[in-house]
Amino acid sequence: MKSIHDYAVLHNGVKMPWLGLGVYKSQEGKEIENAIDHALEAGYRSIDTASFYKNEGGVGKAVKNSTVPREEIFITTKVWNEDQGFEKTLKAFEESRKKLGLNYIDLYLIHWPGKDKYKETWRALEKLYNDGSVRAIGVSNFQIHHLKDLISDCDVKPMVNQVEYHPELTQKELHAYCKQESVQLEAWSPLTRGNIFTTPTIVELANKYNKTAAQIILRWDLQNGVVTIPKSVTKSRIYENADIFDFQLSKEDIKKIDALNKNKRLGPDPDEFIF
Ligand code: NAD
Repeated sequence: MKSIHDYAVLHNGVKMPWLGLGVYKSQEGKEIENAIDHALEAGYRSIDTASFYKNEGGVGKAVKNSTVPREEIFITTKVWNEDQGFEKTLKAFEESRKKLGLNYIDLYLIHWPGKDKYKETWRALEKLYNDGSVRAIGVSNFQIHHLKDLISDCDVKPMVNQVEYHPELTQKELHAYCKQESVQLEAWSPLTRGNIFTTPTIVELANKYNKTAAQIILRWDLQNGVVTIPKSVTKSRIYENADIFDFQLSKEDIKKIDALNKNKRLGPDPDEFIF
């Protein structure tokens, strides 16, 4: 991973950039449009939104107004919990597509597994995939048991699992299982929303490599083979988070960061977040 244009190849051959811009809590309107402008200018080619974020319209507008061709931008959105189920998902997808103003979406994800509707929801994602409305389909916040259950009973295997992943939650077993099944792992809250920038190991490595704490953590994602989508609406931080392709962490330093794991979540535990 030597360039911002490098990508992971999903199991169906679709290329997904290793780095993307997260837009959770980015306000619809100027805030998100400016953030996406800065990101595209900095070289990002992937944007992660969701119907739940209520900013798909802003993402669509920014992409439409950009000089970067649509085909070069990888857009992810997600079906929200209350829209799970076959027909409801198809309807939710059409709403997302309309808000985004796009003919196709690059990656459509089930936002949370919930309890007992994800297989029905998955059938809708498979239909959208087979129709050519989406280039790849995947899941988010799926644990190993959810994935096993889905994989044992599906036609198209998920291409991506987007989960909370950062130095305090390294998801080792889940990551190994995803690798075994060719499901690309993607990190949400990769920067722990700014909560571990003062951790001594991270500060020590930032000094050693002459990089910022955020850059050390994002580089660790890449070297662990995890797609990452840090969020920011601040131009300088958007650039900073993209400046991670000109250095390499040593194996020992990767292990030092791995050792910070505390199995500590910022967000809900997917097994307890039942709707
Ligand atoms: P994050 O870890 O990316 O942290 C974002 C926050 O960190 C910013 O708001 C800013 O305050 C700070 N920050 C960013 N860059 C910085 C820098 N260089 N220096 C200092 N501070 C910096 O957290 P996130 O937004 O929760 O996660 C990223 C993206 O993941 C989201 O925007 C969203 O797209 C996705 N996400 C998905 C789910 C899911 O359930 N699938 C859940 C949460 C987030």
